[in-house]
Amino acid sequence: MNIDLAINEGSKILKSKFIPNPLLDAEILMAKTINKDRNYILLNLNKTLSENQINSFYKLIKIRSYGNPVAYLTKKRFFWNTEFYVTSDTLIPRPETELIVENALRLTRQKKKINILDIGVGSGCILLSILQERENCYGIGIDISKKCLKISQINAINLQVSSRLKLYKSDVDKFNIGKYDLIVSNPPYIKKFQLKYLERDVANFEPRLALDGGLDGLSEVRKVIKKSSELIKKNGKFILEIGFDQKNKIINLLKKEGFYLNSIQKDLGKNDRCIVATKI
Ligand code: GLN
Repeated sequence: MNIDLAINEGSKILKSKFIPNPLLDAEILMAKTINKDRNYILLNLNKTLSENQINSFYKLIKIRSYGNPVAYLTKKRFFWNTEFYVTSDTLIPRPETELIVENALRLTRQKKKINILDIGVGSGCILLSILQERENCYGIGIDISKKCLKISQINAINLQVSSRLKLYKSDVDKFNIGKYDLIVSNPPYIKKFQLKYLERDVANFEPRLALDGGLDGLSEVRKVIKKSSELIKKNGKFILEIGFDQKNKIINLLKKEGFYLNSIQKDLGKNDRCIVATKI
């Protein structure tokens, strides 16, 4: 069997299981199977596959057909300007989260040393993208998941920023180290009862811990805002990712904790997604 035929067959299987982009996924999984990139696949469609390769490919197709996200099968996801190592212990980095990075880079153009805290660092996608672009930035990442910290560490080494990074396993409310010029966070903000209505890939495969914001979706957000107000320097900046319907509630929480609201940005779906505030 050649690459072309296998991809077509794989794609048909995915389609029959209602996977949204069956052909693209089949191509990516083929690339993973034969350890090449997608361009190679498209230029070598007539190449014959070994029996082993065919078996491994169909195995991946089968796992994907149950809804397991492609990023967890390939163990990587592109974010900002790097490929991040991810496993099913981490949230898969999302394009909308790049809004945090954009804002952070806009706010860290000065040459002075800047201390950054990332609350719920996960794969490290936010903090490490900033550190990679700004040599004057030093980062601390906290997470309650030890496995995530390991993954962040691996990504930091890959991005060659580990000398400017420290990671701590900690609950947000128990963390008390340092004072920060900039605090960033993409906390879990989905309402508990809405978790089951997320897309199947997300609901069944991504870590609950990274998504579940409690009954009103704000239980972690409240802790993050409160802790940030304690650990941030005066005039320090705070950048937070939020749920599409949380803007007003979060603005109130921020004001109560002594923050001035600078801006709110929408994601590509036109939902309010990223808030920038200053501690006054
Ligand atoms: N900071 C990581 C990200 O944005 C993890 C966030 C989370 O797990 N809620 O992808």
